[in-house]
Amino acid sequence: MDQLLSVIIPSFNEEGMIPKTSKTISGLLEEAEISYELIFVNDGSTDTTWEKIRQEASGNSCVKGVNFSRNFGKESAIYAGLFYASGDCCVVIDCDLQHPPEKIIEMYHLWEKGYEIVEGVKHSRGEKESPAHFFAARCFYKIISRLTDIDMTRASDFKLLDRKAVNALLNIREKNAFFRALSSWIGFKTTSVEFDVREREIGETKWSTWSLIKYAVSNISSFSAAPMQIVSLLGSVMLLISLILGGIALYQKIIGTALEGFTTVIIINLFTGSIIMLSLGIIGYYISKIYDEIQGRPKYIVRGICGDLKNTPKEPKDVL
Ligand code: UDP
Ligand code: MG
Repeated sequence: MDQLLSVIIPSFNEEGMIPKTSKTISGLLEEAEISYELIFVNDGSTDTTWEKIRQEASGNSCVKGVNFSRNFGKESAIYAGLFYASGDCCVVIDCDLQHPPEKIIEMYHLWEKGYEIVEGVKHSRGEKESPAHFFAARCFYKIISRLTDIDMTRASDFKLLDRKAVNALLNIREKNAFFRALSSWIGFKTTSVEFDVREREIGETKWSTWSLIKYAVSNISSFSAAPMQIVSLLGSVMLLISLILGGIALYQKIIGTALEGFTTVIIINLFTGSIIMLSLGIIGYYISKIYDEIQGRPKYIVRGICGDLKNTPKEPKDVL
C-alpha cells in the first residue's frame, strides 16, 4: 500500500529552522516507512528562508518549496500548500517545531484506520504566553466556538486531512478563509490527538497584539453577522431610552417644572452620536469585507517553486 503523505509547512522568516525542521520530519517519516513529501511554503520571508528551502530540496527529492511574491499570511500559505500537495492525506504543521512532529505518525495511523480528519488539540498552550494573551485567546475561541458550534478553545492548525477533506477545502472559494474553523466546519469523520505546545527554539513569534486583534475580528465576522444585529439591538435600546426620557420631559413641560437641562442634552447627544458612529463602523466593516471578496483577488501569488509539485504552473518555474 503506497500512500503518500504531504506535510505542509508555512514558513515566514524561518531561516534558522528550515534545515532542522526538514531533517527532523523526514527522519521521522523515513523511520516509520511512510512515503512523504514536505512542502515548505515561503510566505514572503525577508531573510534567506527560500535559499534554505532550495538547499534542502536539492539534497532530498521529497522536499519541495513554493515561494510567494510577498507575505500573504499563514492561512494563504496553508492553502497554497494544500493546492500543490499530491498526497492521499496532508498534514499542516508549523515550521518552528512548536507542534511535536512525532505526532504526525500517530495522526497517520489514525488516518489509516479510516479517520478523515485528525485534529491536533492543545493539551497545554506553552509557557511563554502572558496572562493577557491567554485571556484574549480564550475569549476569541469561546466566541468562535459559539458561532461555529465547534469546540475551538483548544484547536490548532496542526491537523491531518484526508484527500476528500482537502478537496472540499480547496473548493471553498472564500478569500478570507479561516483554516482552523473551516476544516472542522466541512465535517467528515474526525478524531483528535492531544499535544503539548513546545517552546519556540529559534526566532520569535510573528504575531503582534495588533495582528492578533485583526485576525480575531476578521475571523469572527467571517463566521457571523451577529455584530450587525448588535446595531439593531443598540437602536432598540436607544428607542426605549428616548421614549422614557421624552415622556419625562413632556410631563415636566406640562406641569411647568421643565429643567434647563443643558448637561442632559449634551450627554444624550454625545451618546447617540457615538452609537451611530459605532453602528456605521460595524456595517462599514462588513461592506469592506464584501468588497474584498467581490474583487476576486487571489489568496496568494506564487513567484516560483522548487521540486516536483502537483498543479505546477508552466511559468514561472523555479525562479529565485
Ligand atoms: N507564518 C507564516 N506567515 C506569517 C506568519 C507566520 O507562514 O505571516 C508561519 C510561521 O513561519 C510558523 C507558523 O506560521 O511556521 C506559526 O507562526 P508563529 O510561530 O509566529 O505563531 P505562534 O506559534 O506564535 O502562534
Ligand atoms: Mg510558533
